[in-house]
Amino acid sequence: MKFNTKTIHGGQEHDKAYGAVMPPIYQTTTYAQSTPGGHKGFEYSRTHNPTRSALERAFASLENGDHGLAFGSGLAAIDAVMKLLKPGDEVISTNDLYGGSYRLFTKVYENFGIKFHFIGMENAANIADYVNENTKLIWVETPTNPMMNVIDIKVAANIAKKHDLLLAVDNTFATPYLQRPLDLGADIVMHSATKYLGGHSDVVMGALVVRDQDLADRLYFIQNASGAICGPQDSFLMLRGIKTLHVRMQRHCENGKKVAEYLQNHPKIEKVYWPGFESHPNHKIAKEQMDDFGGMISFVTKGNNYEEAIRIVENLKVFTLAESLGGVESLCGHPASMTHASIPKEEREKTGVVDSLIRLSVGIEDADDLIDDLKQAIG
Ligand code: PLP
Repeated sequence: MKFNTKTIHGGQEHDKAYGAVMPPIYQTTTYAQSTPGGHKGFEYSRTHNPTRSALERAFASLENGDHGLAFGSGLAAIDAVMKLLKPGDEVISTNDLYGGSYRLFTKVYENFGIKFHFIGMENAANIADYVNENTKLIWVETPTNPMMNVIDIKVAANIAKKHDLLLAVDNTFATPYLQRPLDLGADIVMHSATKYLGGHSDVVMGALVVRDQDLADRLYFIQNASGAICGPQDSFLMLRGIKTLHVRMQRHCENGKKVAEYLQNHPKIEKVYWPGFESHPNHKIAKEQMDDFGGMISFVTKGNNYEEAIRIVENLKVFTLAESLGGVESLCGHPASMTHASIPKEEREKTGVVDSLIRLSVGIEDADDLIDDLKQAIG
């Protein structure tokens, strides 16, 4: 089945009771048993729920995996991966990553004796320098939030295989429409499904997809034991969102290209971060491992002026100033004071998250309106 068909049919079957085309919302906590243990595969909705199971099959299908798991948020999904570890274990992570992931690693899991090495992975071969006998996991986000760095998943996967480590890839920015990390050798793919997968800014959710049965069993155990699941209504909304992922992503990519090129040629803009530019340091890798370049763009204005950045985000009218990304509507954000405020200033500036950086999530409106909006806001 091709990707554009999978978004609509992947892992789905028509409802057995009445033939409903959409999976029913099983708004129930529990399931009748004829005798203790005599049930139809569902006992209690933290463990399994038919609507969530339909969604988990859809997640697995999109990422060419065998097992999908849905969580109450992207961070809950990352949290489940971290619970595979024990005190003394070490993780090698991208240094430029979503601020909330950094906060979870440093403020929660460091307290439980897990050590993190945050490193630049633009040259993914660097990862090997940090492997030791305690290393268990490589955490890659690509493209990264918000600097749009691209990390070579195949190189990271070869290092993981050589040293018997797990490789997890946060595929939130690319989505499986553009990039399928399991095909490139990753063990775990993770999503903030809140973003492009849901696509309508109405559901907070996380996803994991794996191929290995033993790894899936360990993650399902953690999902049930820790309980950070999502409910049936949200599972339904996510399934509905996923059905248009391919058409939305196609437009996000088209609009992203037009907006990136407009900004690139603007006399007041110093630098535009978008993997589709040939001048992007890892454009070649992006071309190899992604099918297109997406609608996420970051930029800084000339003079690197904080007040100027704030003025621009306040003046934008079609772009809404808001946290989050990946919805049909265009959003803008100021990472230093919003999504990445949890990263200390000197840490975030090392990776390029300066006070004047603006991040755009280019939506699927008419590109002319988006460009006009930027024109009037930047001046
Ligand atoms: N990973 C990335 C790349 C993100 O952008 C986000 C949220 O912005 C997350 C993970 C966390 O996901 P959630 O907000 O659904 O918990």
